[in-house]
Amino acid sequence: MRVRLWGVRGSLPAPVTPERLRLRLEEVLAQFERLKDQNLPITARQFIETLPTHLTGGYGGNTSCAEVTHGSTRLLIDSGSGLRVFSDLIMKTEPQCNEFHIYFTHFHWDHLIGLPFFAPLYMKGRTIHCYAVHDDLEESLRSVFRKPTFPVPYEVVQKQIRIHKLKPREKARIGELEITPYQLDHPDPCWGVRVEGGGRSLAWAVDTECTRITREELGPDVGLYRDADLMVFDAQYSFGEALEKINWGHSSGPTGIDIALREQVKLALFVHHDPSSDCEAIGQAEDQTRQYFDQLLKARRQSGLKTSDLVWRFAREGEIIQL
Ligand SMILES: [Zn+2]
Ligand SMILES: [Zn+2]
Repeated sequence: MRVRLWGVRGSLPAPVTPERLRLRLEEVLAQFERLKDQNLPITARQFIETLPTHLTGGYGGNTSCAEVTHGSTRLLIDSGSGLRVFSDLIMKTEPQCNEFHIYFTHFHWDHLIGLPFFAPLYMKGRTIHCYAVHDDLEESLRSVFRKPTFPVPYEVVQKQIRIHKLKPREKARIGELEITPYQLDHPDPCWGVRVEGGGRSLAWAVDTECTRITREELGPDVGLYRDADLMVFDAQYSFGEALEKINWGHSSGPTGIDIALREQVKLALFVHHDPSSDCEAIGQAEDQTRQYFDQLLKARRQSGLKTSDLVWRFAREGEIIQL
């Protein structure tokens, strides 16, 4: 199973401004100049590898969209602005592809705004299967293709769309993948999804405040996380911001670390970065999460407990993970 992240921002796209890009370039060149003055034998590429994320490519600006592929099956999760980037690529590389599957966690606009820019929706002979737990799935899609906010009416794309209503916590098969929706702690509501294929599993937990943390609180929804090979988790806020923004529906790195460690997750990626946080601030939230993780491991070692093999990081747009 392969997972590709097409958008890791939350709430609103957050492109890097030209001014910010210029400052980043100045800082990088100044650091390189200092190295050159010391006559250190290092290539430009090697130097870039040593820099933190916020000084190189950054974390990305597009909102929620991921692609999961296994065998001949391709599943998209959510249709944030990252879907447009996927659409551009697929039209170049596989223009004959005629079947797509999209699972919708919920219909907040950061998870829908890429949909009108998904080219296959306008092409005869294409089928876009849309899945959600919500009763108003089709009504929510219809609301996107409506004047005056978008000029093309839903009737134009309706011929290509197939609606599939899923049952909460019940497995459904999509080609060579199996998906199971689990409820998250987010308004309107939001259903995360566990995707399984080829003996590997993905736990998609975005958007969630994770107000239910213990197994008892999570009840049947703990099944989303258990033994997942990859957990993608909502870390919109730093830990301090999450305490200030109670009931805003989003979480932070340390909460995801707690769940990942307890549920034996192998790899955890943190996404839905706040649009108001520049890449430096996201890097600081990642550092804060690392301090928390290191303290937990130290406490475990001191108590004679087994430490963890968990690997984790704050995700960047465009990342590909082979499970
Ligand atoms: Zn969101
Ligand atoms: Zn949301």
